[in-house]
Amino acid sequence: MSLKIAFIGLGNMGGPMAENLAKAGHAVTAFDLNEAVVATAEHGGCGTAANAVEAADGAEVIITMLPAGKHVVSVYEEVEDKIARGTLMIDCSTIDIESAKRAHEIAAGQDAHSVDAPVSGGIMGAKNATLTFMAGGSDAALDAATPVLDVMGAKMVRCGGASAGQAAKVCNNMILAITMIGTCEAFEMGRRLGLEDQALFDVVSTASGQSWSTTTYCPVPGPVPTSPANNGYAPGFAASLMSKDLGLAAQAAETTGASTPLGTHARALYDTFCKNGGADTDFSGIIEMLRKV
Ligand code: NAD
Repeated sequence: MSLKIAFIGLGNMGGPMAENLAKAGHAVTAFDLNEAVVATAEHGGCGTAANAVEAADGAEVIITMLPAGKHVVSVYEEVEDKIARGTLMIDCSTIDIESAKRAHEIAAGQDAHSVDAPVSGGIMGAKNATLTFMAGGSDAALDAATPVLDVMGAKMVRCGGASAGQAAKVCNNMILAITMIGTCEAFEMGRRLGLEDQALFDVVSTASGQSWSTTTYCPVPGPVPTSPANNGYAPGFAASLMSKDLGLAAQAAETTGASTPLGTHARALYDTFCKNGGADTDFSGIIEMLRKV
């Protein structure tokens, strides 16, 4: 069934996601503040609108893929009057829990279904429609969102009610940052102890130190040929985005009173890495800074 979809936010992630929906036969109306990416989306089969309100007018589904919570809330407020009863609102951005709750509230005020569905899988996942969605919302909203998310990704995990998707995302990425730093430290210490990277990989990848940071994303070149370490640490997942996500984790820890000493330390290290020129580097590139601290 072809749906009338408004897609707002056509950056590195949103652009290819919108195009995948258009390729699947949906009538996508795309909008972004940046005219260049709107033109790319048009080339990729999307219709365009002059602003978010025009894009949302008459849409059955409104999808947002924006930088941060303030952008999502401002777009939801902007299009509020165009959200008809039963419209499906899906926010795929990675944002703070409070803003996610506010977005759900705005949707509920219009009797719309709403889902927070942040993603993992990065730019390649967006292009190849292999993203994983971590979704929060009512059962009815999640049911309605499933066929739409299926077009843009390979997997959708139902995490719970409103904002549960963002909660899962922020927890996952805090673990990722901590395991990556630990993995970097261990590979550097291993080298200094005279271990070959491959030997340490062969042990860790099948032993209790195993994690995604080693097996899929090994921060030294060689053992995992597809990891960014083999490509000059080109992202992948940029350190600036990891830094942002650790800021969201810090915010979540503060509001819940959760104790996250390693999350706090990981954030400080990633912030330093970004300030010293690493922002556009893959987050595994922090190994180069850790060698020196
Ligand atoms: P991006 O900066 O490339 O794109 C964001 C787009 O939003 C930009 O084109 C910008 O012009 C547009 N925008 C901002 N405010 C707007 C508004 N009011 N109305 C319309 N358009 C507006 O960012 P991205 O890499 O596509 O990431 C989007 C979201 O996905 C972020 O929340 C990010 O944390 C998350 N994310 C990114 C990745 C990744 O690898 N890039 C991975 C997972 C999650």
